[in-house]
Amino acid sequence: MWRCERCGRTFAQRNQTHTCRPLGQLDAHFVGKDALVRATFDRVLAVVQGFGPVEVLAEQTRIALHVRMSFAAFVPRVHWLDGHVVLAQELAGPRFRRVEVYSPRNVLHAFRLSDPSEVDAEVEDWLVKAYAVGCGLHLG
Ligand SMILES: [Zn+2]
Repeated sequence: MWRCERCGRTFAQRNQTHTCRPLGQLDAHFVGKDALVRATFDRVLAVVQGFGPVEVLAEQTRIALHVRMSFAAFVPRVHWLDGHVVLAQELAGPRFRRVEVYSPRNVLHAFRLSDPSEVDAEVEDWLVKAYAVGCGLHLG
C-alpha cells in the first residue's frame, strides 16, 4: 500500500498516476474502502437527489443526509456500507438489521448494502419515506 503524501490517497502501487488534489471530507470516508462501497453510496445519493434538494454532511464518524433534519446516515466499511434511515413509523422487513424506536414518529432502521444493485425498489421506498421525515412532513 502506498500513500501519496500530497493528497493522502492510498494505492496498491507506488507512484501510481492519479488525480492529485486534496481529499474532500466526503472522499476521506472512502479511503481504503472497496470501490463498490463508494458506488453504492453514490447510487443511494442519486436516488435521494431525485426527490429534491439534499445536503450531504460528512461528519467525523458518518455521512448524514439532511434537509430540515438528518433522515439517513451512512458509515462506509471496507467491503460494505452500513446505513440507517429514520422513518415516521416502524417498518418490518428482513433487510433491517436493527430497529430502534426513538419516539413514535422517529424510528431508526439500520441496514447494510454491499452493491449498488441492492439499491432497489424496496430501498427507494425507505429513502422516499425517510426524505419526507427529513423535510419534516411527518410532523403534519
Ligand atoms: Zn496525490
